[in-house]
Amino acid sequence: MNYRGLRIGRQRSSILSIIALLMLSMASCSQSNPNQGTTSEQSPQAQEAASTPTAQSGKTKVVATFLPIYLFTKAVAGNVADVEILVPPGTEVHEYQATPQNVKAIATANVLVKNGLGLEEFLENTIKNAENKKLTEIDASKGIKPLNEISPVVKTAKEEKDHDHNHSHAQGNPHVWLDPVLAKQQVTNIRDGLIAADPKNKATYEANAAAYIKELEILNSEFQQTLQKNPSCTFITFHDAFPYLANRYKLKQVAVVQIPEDQLSPTDVQSAVNAVKKYKVKALFSEPGVDNKLLTSLSQDLNLTLQTLDSLETGETDPQHYFKAMKANLQTLETACK
Ligand SMILES: [Zn+2]
Repeated sequence: MNYRGLRIGRQRSSILSIIALLMLSMASCSQSNPNQGTTSEQSPQAQEAASTPTAQSGKTKVVATFLPIYLFTKAVAGNVADVEILVPPGTEVHEYQATPQNVKAIATANVLVKNGLGLEEFLENTIKNAENKKLTEIDASKGIKPLNEISPVVKTAKEEKDHDHNHSHAQGNPHVWLDPVLAKQQVTNIRDGLIAADPKNKATYEANAAAYIKELEILNSEFQQTLQKNPSCTFITFHDAFPYLANRYKLKQVAVVQIPEDQLSPTDVQSAVNAVKKYKVKALFSEPGVDNKLLTSLSQDLNLTLQTLDSLETGETDPQHYFKAMKANLQTLETACK
């Protein structure tokens, strides 16, 4: 099962899309990976790099897979470890293919931090090819009970045909970072993993994590206070990124709509219209930075406003970006749920 219902400019048939909140979230899926490569063989760089496992600075070298995990890791590491990101912001993480540079980065790292829950499929061979026996892996979702998709899935005619190509996701939905409470758990896991790998900086990791967790707690109360005014707000999305957020704050992700990447047929428009009517949806959510021509016309057909909800799969690399983006999401939800 995929988490992107709409893929722009990509030929990918295995799309099981989900209508979640009134969100058409397609922002980051339209961007292509500028450095696709394969890691089927270990690169010479990896072999060469394997002999120098520590960064030149003498600091612990940490590699984080993609944006939210990078933000949390950077927040905990502060200045005492060097943190790198593997999947550059602007690149679709759900479709990511590792590059030789990624192999090199992992070959020379002390620690690798991943989201887990099956999100980083590209890591499997990458780690193998890096041949780094000293690598410590941190699974940021350790101990988190995953949700499977909970929303009815509305399929378009095209996707119906492609049904057999859909994967199952035995590991559940990976988008846990969008729930501030589960984000706390991720930060805690990252803290404990960094302490285990680099015990001499324990005090710094603890202090940095505590400060970030405090901000996450404040964010959680803001979400609670704001969203309890409009209980059971229903929404539809096109990227199944928000079930944890919905679950936490009693929003209702009623469906995830699966629409094709290139062109909507009249049948597709009709099935989206039907879903919106059936679930009395209030808004449609897209993601920032996406060309929403398709969604704009769909939302006009549906007589709904197209709004933006950020899955944080892409964005700024400052750890404070998490709070900025999540507060913007809260504002969007507040407006949409009125
Ligand atoms: Zn996603």
